Amino acid sequence: MVDYITSVYETVVEKNPAQKEFHQAVKEVLESLRPAIEKHPEFKQHKILERIVEPERQVIFRVPWVDDKGEIHVNRGMRIQFNSAIGPYKGGIRFHPTVYEGIIKFLGFEQIFKNALTGLPMGGGKGGADFDPKGKSETEIMRFCQAFMLELFRHVGPDTDVPAGDIGVGTREIGYMFGVYKKIRNEFTGVLTGKGLEWGGSLVRTEATGYGVTYFAAEMLKVKNMDFKDKIVMISGSGNVAQYAVQKVTQLGGKVITVSDSDGTVYDPDGIDAKKLEYILELKNVKRGRIKEYADHFGGNIQYLPGRRPWRIGTHVDVAMPCATQNELDLEDARTLVNNGVKVVCEGANMPTTLDATDYLIKNGVAFGPGKAANAGGVATSGLEMAQNSQRLSWTWEEVDAKLKNIMVNIHRTAYETAQKYGYPGNYVVGANIAGFLKVAKAMIAQGVV
Ligand code: NDP
Repeated sequence: MVDYITSVYETVVEKNPAQKEFHQAVKEVLESLRPAIEKHPEFKQHKILERIVEPERQVIFRVPWVDDKGEIHVNRGMRIQFNSAIGPYKGGIRFHPTVYEGIIKFLGFEQIFKNALTGLPMGGGKGGADFDPKGKSETEIMRFCQAFMLELFRHVGPDTDVPAGDIGVGTREIGYMFGVYKKIRNEFTGVLTGKGLEWGGSLVRTEATGYGVTYFAAEMLKVKNMDFKDKIVMISGSGNVAQYAVQKVTQLGGKVITVSDSDGTVYDPDGIDAKKLEYILELKNVKRGRIKEYADHFGGNIQYLPGRRPWRIGTHVDVAMPCATQNELDLEDARTLVNNGVKVVCEGANMPTTLDATDYLIKNGVAFGPGKAANAGGVATSGLEMAQNSQRLSWTWEEVDAKLKNIMVNIHRTAYETAQKYGYPGNYVVGANIAGFLKVAKAMIAQGVV
């Protein structure tokens, strides 16, 4: 059995050289599936692992565009359609200079299990481009999004593949891409999620990932007979996920003392209250400024720590929520967090914690909520947006928020109970991976060798 899992992993490394993030994600998932593979020999017989690590399809394409000065640029775009066993491919689009196949494959692979955990009929996929939106004008962003969709439209559709946002792609970018799709296809359909409210978007979608990760963390605290009231919380990032995690944690009585961006961290020992968050929303979503400006604006006890992440600030912390990017919390960070009293680490971002840091946290009794379970609120609400689009209906804020909360509570319960059932009590990584995998693997067997 050991040989089966190891040999599948080694083949992945051999066939996908230099895609280290993809290797990391596959390793984490395969290792934690061991008890399920032992219990169900049919998965080996049907070569489910060999099949699940290979994308059904990947498209790589040229994205040429013209900047405001008339100069031509060429970026690389891609869409990786990983698995459609339980529904149309679903997953975000990332615009960031670090994007390459290894990143999009890791995200697409994770997405398979995450989407299965939501209980909604969605397969896994992911896309993006190595385009850097920073410093680009509004018209340059529009032209890039249009150029990207001029190729992507061939490969997506409301019953085929429904992309959403991710790093560097918010409602603005989704709007520009939706406009081109609608024009070329001459149809108004739910081909993208994260749309504006006036044109098919769902209430709570913007807030969903940040709210969802907080609802998940609240469930983890509940298992420890605790809640967010008066808890000291460190959050990284200051984008979509971080912003609404700050909001929900604060509403539940927690005190958020950090936010960050790729330039540095803000440490606000007095806590980021609703008024200060309003400033962050304006700064990041409208002015598109840097988080340093928060410290300059509010002054007082607030410190700006250039080039640093939140985790090694030497102060007491109860809950840590990495909400920026992959591999942003390493072993040394984990050690510092444990020394400073952390009880729960809950991932808002995808794979923000390195494998050795994850092991260290779990071994030291920290409840660890992996992204594929904890940040599934975003894609779950995208699923709710798809349902509303299909019915030509819009649900109220209360309806969507209640469904989101219910989904997060169910994902938590599923991950918790599955971990217990397979002999790893309290290990949400094992629980989430096995629960998501079982659903997809059973569907793959039922649909034959395709
Ligand atoms: P945004 O683009 O809105 O925000 C990203 C934040 O992370 C920004 O503060 C950004 O800083 C920071 N960041 C990005 N890259 C780096 C880096 N290399 N080092 C340090 N900081 C970095 O993205 P989202 O908030 O949407 O996404 C954040 C994470 O959550 C990602 O891992 C994403 O995959 C995941 N996620 C998002 C979902 C969603 O619904 N949006 C759903 C599920 C997961 P800067 O501005 O300086 O780049």
